[in-house]
Amino acid sequence: MNDASTANKNLMQGATGPWEIVIGLEVHAQVNSKSKLFSGSSTAFGAEPNSHVSLVDAAMPGMLPVINEECVAQAIRTGLGLKAQINNRSIFDRKNYFYPDLPQGYQISQYKYPIVGEGVIEIDAEGESMTVGIERLHLEQDAGKSIHDQHPDYSYVDLNRSGVALMEIVSKPDMRSAKQAQAYVTKLRTILRYLETCDGDMEKGNLRADVNVSVRKPGDKLGTRCEIKNVNSIRFIGQAIEVEARRQIGIIEDGGKIDQETRLFDPAKGETRAMRSKEEAHDYRYFPDPDLLPLEFTQGYVDGLKAHLPELPDEKKARFIKDFGLSAYDASVLVAEKANADYFEIVAKDRDGKIAANWVINELFGRLNKEGKDIEHSPVSAAQLGGIVGLISSNAISGKIAKDLFEIVWTEGGDPADIVEKRGMKQVTDTGAIEKAVNEIIKANPEKVEQAKLKPSMLGWFVGQVMKQTGGKAAPAAVSDMLKAKLGIE
Ligand code: ADP
Ligand code: MG
Repeated sequence: MNDASTANKNLMQGATGPWEIVIGLEVHAQVNSKSKLFSGSSTAFGAEPNSHVSLVDAAMPGMLPVINEECVAQAIRTGLGLKAQINNRSIFDRKNYFYPDLPQGYQISQYKYPIVGEGVIEIDAEGESMTVGIERLHLEQDAGKSIHDQHPDYSYVDLNRSGVALMEIVSKPDMRSAKQAQAYVTKLRTILRYLETCDGDMEKGNLRADVNVSVRKPGDKLGTRCEIKNVNSIRFIGQAIEVEARRQIGIIEDGGKIDQETRLFDPAKGETRAMRSKEEAHDYRYFPDPDLLPLEFTQGYVDGLKAHLPELPDEKKARFIKDFGLSAYDASVLVAEKANADYFEIVAKDRDGKIAANWVINELFGRLNKEGKDIEHSPVSAAQLGGIVGLISSNAISGKIAKDLFEIVWTEGGDPADIVEKRGMKQVTDTGAIEKAVNEIIKANPEKVEQAKLKPSMLGWFVGQVMKQTGGKAAPAAVSDMLKAKLGIE
């Protein structure tokens, strides 16, 4: 919810003063299921065009749709994950329009009676937490794909996607900035991936957003919105909102008014362009599909699905903060992808959670990023990183040596404790050995010793020299204490 302080910083400055941006999103998420919503054809991506097309998908006369129960279960799981109202009775409607990639001449969708009603998503945007309302979630068929760039004179149609199940998840117009909209889609994607109801792969078009944007003077009623269709990356969602809001403000400030229309975002030009004037619901001649009965299920069925839901990101985050003493920020970073959270839990089990989080987030993610690897293919397994963290927590090795050790495990593999043992990497806590090194450094640098008496910040230089002398193995705290005593620094 936007209190005054967060609302202010989100305002966009125009020539006539500040404007508020209002955003609502319709996200299309492809349902994870082996077969399509009303036919048994495969949903596999990247197949030869028109190789996954049943008679139902090609809309041959007389063919009848048969609902795929797995898709229904996936929609219910998603609704539960959005803490939403599950409607035990819903209706499939025909949404009539003509397009070459829609052989039926209508899309089977849900209109008045969707399978899922109101819910919520908690998001964090720019350090502020807020709740975005979900209006509804309904099931519908995807269309096929028109291909225009294969031949100068012809267009082709690939029906592999025709009939694949989509969940359309409609938010309330609760967002007030590009950052909030991006945080919303990111969080929704995370929830879907945890639930395994959609893989969230935006590059493949498995998750795409229609972005509704309007502007108003703070306190005014909602302005006329434009809908930007099919934006397929988080970055483009942010850019599209900013340029569209700017465009609308310009028109209104020039004395014009906004036409409600459907627009396209062109990332190359950084602008949105009119596609068509907005169609109204009555243009589609919605009516209940006579080939399908109302979709009904019992509360027992819903409860059964609920009992098997995985732990979701918000709950996991709260548990990480409580059980491992993590900061809210570190916990959010770790739960953003389930694979990362699972990895962290193995590293942190029975060990120092903060050190574990630090190593996973900074060393491991940093290195994986640099090499373009994902965590499933990490050369350092969670058990190995856990071993390293264990050695650090027990003071067997210093932080500096731990980095060398990480490097060895990354490139050569092996058991961290064995490596430390065999290569003599154990931290030197033996005061005799440390004292020897300290004495040598002091003896070799009489001028610096004099300076240090006047300038205590020189201590760092001495610690560095002793660490070098001992090959990084001396315990830094012990070195520092001994140097202070010998140099007479407080
Ligand atoms: P339709 O069915 O015509 O697309 P809806 O009322 O279902 O219209 O709204 C579609 C989306 O537009 C929703 O995500 C909603 O939050 C958003 N929306 C509605 N009014 C506005 C507005 N004035 N400004 C921005 N977004 C809006
Ligand atoms: Mg709509």
